[in-house]
Amino acid sequence: MLIKSSEFFKNLPPKKCIECGQEMEEQHECYGNKCNECLQVVYK
Ligand SMILES: [Zn+2]
Repeated sequence: MLIKSSEFFKNLPPKKCIECGQEMEEQHECYGNKCNECLQVVYK
């Protein structure tokens, strides 16, 4: 535990869905910044 958690998260900011703000784990880059739930939304 030599690395401070605060420094670690600075280097690796968590991805958040731009639609609902939910934190996402590993996603395909092509999905952009939306979580699976928001990607399934049918645009009117
Ligand atoms: Zn979302």
